Amino acid sequence: MKKPFVTKEKVEEIVKKYPTPFHLYDERGIRENVKALKEAFAWNKGYKEYFAVKATPNPFLIRILREYGCGCDCSSMTELMLSDAIGIRGEDIMFSSNNTPAEEFIYADKVGAIINLDDITHIEFLEKTIGHIPETISCRYNPGGVFKISNSIMDNPGDAKYGFTTEQLFEGYRMLMAKGAKKFGLHAFLASNTVTNEYYPTLAKDMFELAVRLKKETGADIRFINLSGGIGVPYEPDQKPNDIYAIGEGVRKVFEEVLVPAGMGDVAIYTELGRFMMAPYGCLVTKAIHEKHTHKEYVGVDACAVHLMRPAMYGAYHHITVLGKENAPCDHKYDITGSLCENNDKFAIDRMLPAIEKGDYLVLHDTGAHGFSMGYNYNGKLKSAEILLKENGEFELIRRAETPKDYFATFDCFDILKNMEY
Ligand SMILES: *Cc1c(COP(=O)(O)O)cnc(C)c1O
Repeated sequence: MKKPFVTKEKVEEIVKKYPTPFHLYDERGIRENVKALKEAFAWNKGYKEYFAVKATPNPFLIRILREYGCGCDCSSMTELMLSDAIGIRGEDIMFSSNNTPAEEFIYADKVGAIINLDDITHIEFLEKTIGHIPETISCRYNPGGVFKISNSIMDNPGDAKYGFTTEQLFEGYRMLMAKGAKKFGLHAFLASNTVTNEYYPTLAKDMFELAVRLKKETGADIRFINLSGGIGVPYEPDQKPNDIYAIGEGVRKVFEEVLVPAGMGDVAIYTELGRFMMAPYGCLVTKAIHEKHTHKEYVGVDACAVHLMRPAMYGAYHHITVLGKENAPCDHKYDITGSLCENNDKFAIDRMLPAIEKGDYLVLHDTGAHGFSMGYNYNGKLKSAEILLKENGEFELIRRAETPKDYFATFDCFDILKNMEY
């Protein structure tokens, strides 16, 4: 059974200072998980996790990961700026962007990030834009087709906009070497939110074999292989979580099988995990404010899709706990709705839950990654606060909620605030 990391009593304490809705993060969970990840890959001397900033772009949280040696995986200007501001620079940044604007390459080069190219045409574009090709450079691989693990299809790289084809990779490495690149990386992200210990080892085997061929045929000095993101979390209560130790061990095995005999035992393994690092250690806390009995039974809460888009966008499941009713029978069927003028603004549809009364606090689980960060301002709704629940039980505001002033701040040409009477 899924249990929230926060109690009703603690939420009642927090709301006295910071009203709902808010995203709450679990410092203890974040620390324990990153420690386990590091242990699982400790066999690889150069191992490094570059946290995918887009998942949870909060400097307070990234600073926790930084204590364990994590870098940042960025894909936009502001993500680069955020890393820079935290003091994460140089080769501690992996710039894995796509369809990249020139000014982002310029900024990435300025902060010394490792540039991970998404396309063969970006080689010339990068050279023209920054005036040279960096000594260390990486290319993103997309084999096309479907990505399978023991006969089940995990994802569809052939439909994905990312990466070089196999042929382009060989040609791209040669072009880069001719232009002065010395140290190479290989990157691939072929399946998202995988809840199986086989994804990384299967991906690693494909990439290791490719790296051996690339080295043999082009002579490139391959320094790292970046397995990127994709390790998932069990959003549904009956899913079995990944075992990061089994995953690390699975990658070690294929490393010994493929890279070591090819004389490539010093290659570093990099990861760019986002979801796995944070999703289970964040939740969205919201209050039931209305009930509605029409063609269905509705409970309206004070959060909406602006705070958590995944259900509206992908029909994603987020488990819900009604605080204080953890052990009550789930004998009521509800749609849990936000207040947007969009019928897909529902956190749950036909969900069996305990009887909910107005004033109850609901915890939406696993919102620590791709939760707050995907938010937007539709219907003029304002983004929520983010709060850190510390190991000692205290709580700290790590991003305040937006105010109308923030929402109107971009109307430089029209001073709405001046004309407002409140
Ligand atoms: C989104 C993304 C990640 C992180 O993916 P998760 O599924 O959150 O682990 C890593 N690398 C790149 C390039 C991405 O776009």
